[in-house]
Amino acid sequence: MKPEDIHLEEILDFSPGRIDLKGRRLVLHDIHAFAQMRKDLVEMVGIEQTRRLLTRFGFSWGYADAAAMTRIFKWDSLADWLKAGPRMHTLQGVTRSVVKSLDFDEDGENFNMHLDWHHSGEAEEHLIAFGKSDHCVCRMLVGYASGYATFCLGKNIYFIENKCRAKGDRICSATGKNENAWPDEFKDQLANFKEVDHIQKKIKDLTILLKRKDRQLANQNKRLGLLDHAKKHGFVEVHSRSFQRVLDLANRTARYDSSVLITGESGAGKEVLARYIHKLSARADNVFTAVNCGALPETLLESELFGHQAGSFTGAIKNRAGLFEQSQKGTIFLDEIGDITPALQLKLLRVLQEKEIMRVGESKTRKVDVRIIAATNKILSEEITKGSFREDLFYRLAVLEIEVPPLRDRKDDILPLARHFIQRLAKKLNLPDLHLDPSCLDYLLAHNWPGNVRELENALERAAVLSRNNLILPEFLPPAITRTQSLSSPADLSPNRTLAEVEKQYIGTVLKITGQNKSKAAKILDISPATLWRKLKKY
Ligand SMILES: [Zn+2]
Repeated sequence: MKPEDIHLEEILDFSPGRIDLKGRRLVLHDIHAFAQMRKDLVEMVGIEQTRRLLTRFGFSWGYADAAAMTRIFKWDSLADWLKAGPRMHTLQGVTRSVVKSLDFDEDGENFNMHLDWHHSGEAEEHLIAFGKSDHCVCRMLVGYASGYATFCLGKNIYFIENKCRAKGDRICSATGKNENAWPDEFKDQLANFKEVDHIQKKIKDLTILLKRKDRQLANQNKRLGLLDHAKKHGFVEVHSRSFQRVLDLANRTARYDSSVLITGESGAGKEVLARYIHKLSARADNVFTAVNCGALPETLLESELFGHQAGSFTGAIKNRAGLFEQSQKGTIFLDEIGDITPALQLKLLRVLQEKEIMRVGESKTRKVDVRIIAATNKILSEEITKGSFREDLFYRLAVLEIEVPPLRDRKDDILPLARHFIQRLAKKLNLPDLHLDPSCLDYLLAHNWPGNVRELENALERAAVLSRNNLILPEFLPPAITRTQSLSSPADLSPNRTLAEVEKQYIGTVLKITGQNKSKAAKILDISPATLWRKLKKY
């Protein structure tokens, strides 16, 4: 039997749903699907692991073919059996494999085999997936040749590719030698054949990692109890440590009836937090009233809060109870407390001290049972120094003080919040499939959010209204957000910088935007991952 006498139609049995090679099942694959898998593998497990996986895959395949060849046929010589490997490789459509030379001793030492691979399907896959490479890529081919020869000789024979179509050579070619005949400089490449040990080490490492994660999870579960609670009471997922601390403080605060002062920038969610405290408190079943003290002129605010008697001022037609009276047994939230006048400050102090109010134009006092939660974006200690805010009122209001961090200091919460708002907007605007294009996320994370959560909500509403086909693209976000990441300021382009400096900075920026994802970055830069890798090494 000679290798060239093998004909696929004679050894293959085609029946519906099965291709059989004398008892071994084969499946045809599509090269584009393989190309995609190569790409996915590189992204999921990295280039090193991908090389090993592909090499090992080829190795098992070659090993099994060598076994089949000796089971099915009787060979005139070991050399013929060895040459049947390239023949099978060719017949299976992988590559046209041509044996250029083959030498070995009786005992299988000094093995030397040269193969030319024409039209390597694997090189084609690589070109489809990544474009031109700067190194040899036919890992499954070297794996196959090695696995095949190793089975035949009962000794480790490893092939290494030295020319490859994927890097621009006309054909691919490879040399096979005994493992110990390869010089040290090929050690790295030979390691690709030894995946098994590596995987066992990986499993060990992963086990240790898993144990550590388990412990972390137990700790997290403790915190989750708190967060679940928060979610039930109107907060979306909170991921940031800083806001978790705020919630923890609010939880502990809620139980007591003391006044609370919430500080923080506008739009940071002070009212949401006040509502949360109310809902957790013993007053939860009663009314929660929110008043923006900065939005009303003094006299109107006074009558709103304390009520009035008919005829006490123009427009006061009948007796009216104020918000304090209307909020009996509930909570009143006084936003922008730093804006109220000294006269009103004094009246408020009275409420806090005596738990009673007097309607405008009336001399009778009325008892009120209301918990006061105040909020401000001002620094009240400064207002006290300036003399515009009463110190005694401050201490009455700030029995408990909670500072809400600005959104830029709780970046982990940006995306969960954005998703939450998108869901809400989808309902509100009747755009059921509304979603963010992933390219928006980097902009959202990079923006400084001076207007905090409110700015995020408004930005997304604007973008949702402008969205096309339910998709929010970066161009629909307010320019203030997308401008944050303009890649270079005019100063950066001053004419005293070298091209290399500009290139280095630009690559850095693109990597930052892609979250250090090199294959994404390469795509944006329109260069191959290998070229990017080379440039990164250079810089
Ligand atoms: Zn190749």
